[in-house]
Amino acid sequence: MQSARLVAAADEVGGTSHVMLCESCKKNEATCHVCTIVDGVSQSRDLCMECHEASSPEARELSAAQRDARCEYCGGQPCAGGTDFLAMVTGVQKLKFSCMPCLLEHNRYVQQQLQPDASGLSQRDQLALLRKLGRDADAHMQQWVSERGSR
Ligand SMILES: [Zn+2]
Ligand SMILES: [Zn+2]
Repeated sequence: MQSARLVAAADEVGGTSHVMLCESCKKNEATCHVCTIVDGVSQSRDLCMECHEASSPEARELSAAQRDARCEYCGGQPCAGGTDFLAMVTGVQKLKFSCMPCLLEHNRYVQQQLQPDASGLSQRDQLALLRKLGRDADAHMQQWVSERGSR
């Protein structure tokens, strides 16, 4: 019993049994952990660089940009990049990178602030609302990151 447990522990330290394989080709080591948030649900996929870049033309562009990208809120290693959906609906296309904790917090804040009765507004008012929400969310993230950093 005792020795079996020791062997398992040694394996974990060695790390060889914990190489994660690419979900797509199941051959290469998964070096890309792709997080996407769809309708408030986050999904993550583990892909190798090849499969990730092959999965979509945007992914190829993105991974090139991601090489030297930083989380735009805390400066950490970004786990995901994409077009900011708030910027998109307001007509501004920009790439945005954030690490997983920041991404989740940003998403949570936006969901929380989105007004359920906004659909009754005119398109112009909705856009104004979303622009304001985008600015509020950025301000909230700066606050959140500084509080998180001091903990
Ligand atoms: Zn692969
Ligand atoms: Zn971050």
